Amino acid sequence: MRRKPPAGAVTKAPEGLPSAMIENWEWQDHAACQGVNPELFFAAESERGLRKRARELVAKSLCGTCPVRRECADHAAVVGEMYGVWGGITEEEREPAFHGRHH
Ligand code: SF4
Repeated sequence: MRRKPPAGAVTKAPEGLPSAMIENWEWQDHAACQGVNPELFFAAESERGLRKRARELVAKSLCGTCPVRRECADHAAVVGEMYGVWGGITEEEREPAFHGRHH
């Protein structure tokens, strides 16, 4: 399971933003990323630029094979996940304003 972000990963939303809701997590039993190092999905604090893009591409490609991609992406949207690749969607793609990018 990849839900426990690696030490040093940027995972904390600023105070005042929505916190996680109680939900059904059974979809994770079918995740293609079971057993995969969580570092593939979450940026280290110092990660930037091409290195970040390259990691995200690998993560997205794994998500592309995942039978619960939709559930994963929906989860991230519902709870307002600010960081990490969820359902093949990067943090910038989910929250362009927050991450300073405008697609
Ligand atoms: S969509 Fe990606 S991050 Fe989500 S469960 Fe599947 S492999 Fe893991």
